[in-house]
Amino acid sequence: MDRHGALLDGRVALITGASSGIGEAAARVFAREGARVVLAARREDRLKQLVAHLREAGHEAEYVVTDVTRPGDTAAAVAHAVDRFGRLDAAFNNAGWGTGRTPLHLMDDGLYDQIMDVNVRGVWNCLRDEIASMLSSGGGAIVNTSSVGGLLATPVAAPYVAAKHAVLGLTKAAAAEYAAQGIRVNALAPGTTRTEVVGEWFAANPGIEEALHQATPQPRTAEPEEVAEAAAWLLSDRASFVTGMTMPVDGGLTIV
Ligand code: NDP
Repeated sequence: MDRHGALLDGRVALITGASSGIGEAAARVFAREGARVVLAARREDRLKQLVAHLREAGHEAEYVVTDVTRPGDTAAAVAHAVDRFGRLDAAFNNAGWGTGRTPLHLMDDGLYDQIMDVNVRGVWNCLRDEIASMLSSGGGAIVNTSSVGGLLATPVAAPYVAAKHAVLGLTKAAAAEYAAQGIRVNALAPGTTRTEVVGEWFAANPGIEEALHQATPQPRTAEPEEVAEAAAWLLSDRASFVTGMTMPVDGGLTIV
């Protein structure tokens, strides 16, 4: 157990949703902290560019085009990490998507399915394949991205709120089930974080950013790197007795 070097020195880390936002920031932070990273998402052009950038900076990085809703894809992503780097030590199950602003009684069933599929089935597919691999190599650590919407009800976003609560259920169930076999599983609950999608949401809804700041003890929007730093710590040996936990990264939003 290394509590002195870089947080993720020599670790092999899979990151889903690595083509933008929090996942892209995690790729940079984990690599800087010594990890060998495997980046997964659907947009190949973005993954290719990020891998090239990381390699230029002297890091070891790979990508696998992955749709987390497809079990074959998540299995292939884990297999790629093992083929290329010998094992899988850490996984950041961060791919996710949601749209709000539609009242529950008007919500289209297709949209409900889409939101549950990427956020819940996606994490489920990842957990199953990552845990199988980690069991065969003696353990590991996993972080799932939930949301403050996994702790609180955000109005007019019922499927997203349900999906992110389910991510916490999966996190606790997996943590309890595999703790004795050396696998830790935790979750992050980010507050509003300045990613491209959130930038577009702010632009389309004037005043919303200021309203969110007013509701937040630290009255600002998180930067993606701040969320990625929390994931890096939870995945590292410095969090060696932490499992089944949900860590809000929300500037205090959920304590008031
Ligand atoms: P982005 O849209 O920037 O990132 C989402 C990532 O998920 C992208 O890389 C996208 O890549 C990937 N993704 C989406 N669907 C799939 C899929 N089916 N298979 C594989 N990858 C997929 O958003 P954020 O960085 O903001 O979001 C990251 C996570 O953080 C999400 O789980 C989100 O719910 C959560 N979150 C975000 C908050 C925020 O304010 N930004 C607040 C709370 C939680 P691609 O399209 O290339 O597949």
